[in-house]
Amino acid sequence: MLNLYASNVKKPISIHNDPWEAYNDMQEHDRLTLSNIEFTTTNLCNMRCSHCAVGYTLQTTDPDPLPMDLIYRRLDEIPDLKTMSITGGEPMFSKKSIRNVVKPLLKYAHSRGIYVQMNSNLTLPLDRYLDIAEYIDVMHISHNWGTIDEFTDVGFGAMDKQPPLKAKLRLYEQMLSNSSTLSQQGMFISAETMLNQSTVPHLEKIHNEIVHDMKCQRHEIHPMYPADFASQLEVLSLKEMKTAIHHILDIRDPNLWMLFGTLPIYPCIKDENDQALLQRLRDTPNVTMRNDPDGRNRLNVNVFTGNVIVTDFGDENGTISNIKHDKLPDVFNHWLATPLAQSLNCHCSEFSCLGPNVLVKNMYYPNTDFKKNEKIMHR
Ligand code: SF4
Repeated sequence: MLNLYASNVKKPISIHNDPWEAYNDMQEHDRLTLSNIEFTTTNLCNMRCSHCAVGYTLQTTDPDPLPMDLIYRRLDEIPDLKTMSITGGEPMFSKKSIRNVVKPLLKYAHSRGIYVQMNSNLTLPLDRYLDIAEYIDVMHISHNWGTIDEFTDVGFGAMDKQPPLKAKLRLYEQMLSNSSTLSQQGMFISAETMLNQSTVPHLEKIHNEIVHDMKCQRHEIHPMYPADFASQLEVLSLKEMKTAIHHILDIRDPNLWMLFGTLPIYPCIKDENDQALLQRLRDTPNVTMRNDPDGRNRLNVNVFTGNVIVTDFGDENGTISNIKHDKLPDVFNHWLATPLAQSLNCHCSEFSCLGPNVLVKNMYYPNTDFKKNEKIMHR
């Protein structure tokens, strides 16, 4: 196992240090660089959210994972690896998976000074999370629950046999108290809310819960895009999206870091209102915007099959390779050379902008040629 960085060189996460920002690689290497691997470590979960990217592929048992030696080797081959994300299912659900996959990955990351994010629903007993706390840089949780009914319905929307209501409500309470306890003990908890028809009427309530009850250090806002898994929830029009962003800027707690990711608003779109909103986001203290990482600095690896996807739009693009036979930097370079990536990957340094991903483009800008916009911007 490589030991490229001493673990104590990691700077704390802050508005000035977001290691998941793909633009960091552009600044460091002057090109898109593979620096982020997301591992799908389990197909198991105690919930079945309708909006979950893997909600309909969840299973009741996990197959055997690939040998960890192969996974370590593939990670060793990535010289610029800076961040790792661990996702599922619920990564802390299966004790076997925690022992055989999650903890070994956390220890690997620790030994290389790599930042780690875990995507969890935080509804399991507290001691599971305390057990891995020292290895976690960001505990990421989705919070899209405008009402308790939303949690009990949508949170289990893809489950055939519904648990009793009381059991569902207990999980909600557990999530709130885990978040606040872990945060008070020093864990960085980042709650993400998707902008869609269900969340927008309740943004103030959700934000206040994230600030006061969950005591999170960051609230992330990401528009919901119509990937397959979310097709039953209603996406917002571009106009509704912009109104919702203004609204959350109006009502937010100014002391909490808000991160806006994958926004469908770009400096090259010549619209006064868009540019005013972008300027507002840039000028507001404690607010940051993040370029979309998928395919820019990140690949997703499934630890059971070895399949590699360009995260989130795997449905659009499918499996692009397998770690059983390919090195990840080679897979990434091959992806960057595809016509799809070439058609999307624009770059305007003046705005630290890396352009839209395929879902954003298809949803809101099907007729815009961003490569042409890029040329105009560079004149
Ligand atoms: S990088 Fe692409 S999307 Fe961003 S401003 Fe330039 S051309 Fe527009």
